[in-house]
Amino acid sequence: MPRKTKLICTLGPATESEEMIGSLIDCGTNVFRLNMSHAKHEWAAEMSRRVRRESDKRNLHIPVLFDLTGPSIRTGDLPQAYELKEGDIVEFRKQGSEPKIPLSTTVNYDGLIADVSEGNTLVVDNGVLLMRIDSVQEDRIHCFVKTPGTMGSRRHINLPGVRLNLPALTEKDHKDLALAVECGADYIAGSFVRDASHVRELREAMEALEGEAQIVAKVEDQEAVRNIDAIIHASDVIMVARGDLGVEVAFEELPILQRRIVKRCHELGTRVIVATQMLESMIVNPTPTRAEVTDVSNAAYEEADSLMLSGETSVGRYPERCVEAIVRIANRIERSGGLGYGQNVHLRDERQKVARAAVTLADSLSEGLLVVLTRRGVLANHVAMLRPKTSGFYAFTPNERVCRQLSMTRGITAFKLSFATNIEETIHRLSEFLKTEGLVRPGTPIVIVSDMLSGHFAANSILLHHA
Ligand code: PGA
Ligand code: MN
Repeated sequence: MPRKTKLICTLGPATESEEMIGSLIDCGTNVFRLNMSHAKHEWAAEMSRRVRRESDKRNLHIPVLFDLTGPSIRTGDLPQAYELKEGDIVEFRKQGSEPKIPLSTTVNYDGLIADVSEGNTLVVDNGVLLMRIDSVQEDRIHCFVKTPGTMGSRRHINLPGVRLNLPALTEKDHKDLALAVECGADYIAGSFVRDASHVRELREAMEALEGEAQIVAKVEDQEAVRNIDAIIHASDVIMVARGDLGVEVAFEELPILQRRIVKRCHELGTRVIVATQMLESMIVNPTPTRAEVTDVSNAAYEEADSLMLSGETSVGRYPERCVEAIVRIANRIERSGGLGYGQNVHLRDERQKVARAAVTLADSLSEGLLVVLTRRGVLANHVAMLRPKTSGFYAFTPNERVCRQLSMTRGITAFKLSFATNIEETIHRLSEFLKTEGLVRPGTPIVIVSDMLSGHFAANSILLHHA
């Protein structure tokens, strides 16, 4: 039985060579991510080409996800890092203003001062430094250091629970977006999306450039969690971005939020990625910790569409071993069964009800296969969200990009196939294809679901065919 849980690998210095990209595909990578917080434009363009070449060589369709930096708040350029002790007072001031105390830095977001209040927590560098905001002045704030540590230049700042008036996209994001479209990106992720309007803004900017990517919304703070339904409706895919989310909420809330978001994505029919620190220790170690094995298996058990590796594959010492670890854990948990949120999908229209009927039929047949004919991938994603249990689940589409995009979707293997004008011929083609590939034995029942109008094969059809 092929693995259902898909895997996204972030490319970086450790994995940029063409051989390594090929090897990661061979090990089981389904999507490659380029993190625009670190990637230079020329490098990102070259990586997109390498992914395309290596997938073509293997006759596979592997998409590229461009992950935009988003409006993150950062410390300024410091002449040297500050070694902070508990009780120190640190100043964060508007750009262009003069320091009033020795431990002072600018922040890249002037609105910060207006957004925060005394008593709020300020976190630097993903939780390395915890501070309490003690005073808010016109052009600066003073913070009390609660945990000692080093504060360097351009370190990431989080403000748990604070509603920020940051824009959806920065100037840098717009430039990166243009590059992504130029490179033919299949997915574009928006970071620190806080409400549905941010997702729409990204989509509109992408469409204005005539991009055809699908939009991933990264849920990384409490504001996004509050607006989760609207964000899910506005997005093609949701990412549970546990790196930032884990700093923005009390850590014991994280597993609850992950499960709730995964469940809600199922209900509303939007794909979902679980990301960050899945195999963090494997950046330096050849085997995962027991906690990581359990975490990965939990996300696979929740039946998320994709799991994501970041530093593990971009800068880690064991990128291939990481992919193998995810593959082993996912395969094992899939044999033992999943959480079953696919039962909770809200069937909003007839098409989704047809998808439900097809899945029920296919699951009821022993050895049955499920096939979706899909032009834009919408019906394929509806069917996949119901989490069919068949041992084969294939999508056929004439569209190369749709083929690539479906590589993110749980359970589906997508193939490119030109559709004939009559449905009998299309079915003949796909049936022959599956036989040639050794994916079906003659006589196997195949449930074919389609929403295409073609000859006397009406919209929203389910067909039971024997190979
Ligand atoms: P990042 O996003 O790696 O771009 O910060 C993911 C996360 O925050 O988990
Ligand atoms: Mn993040």
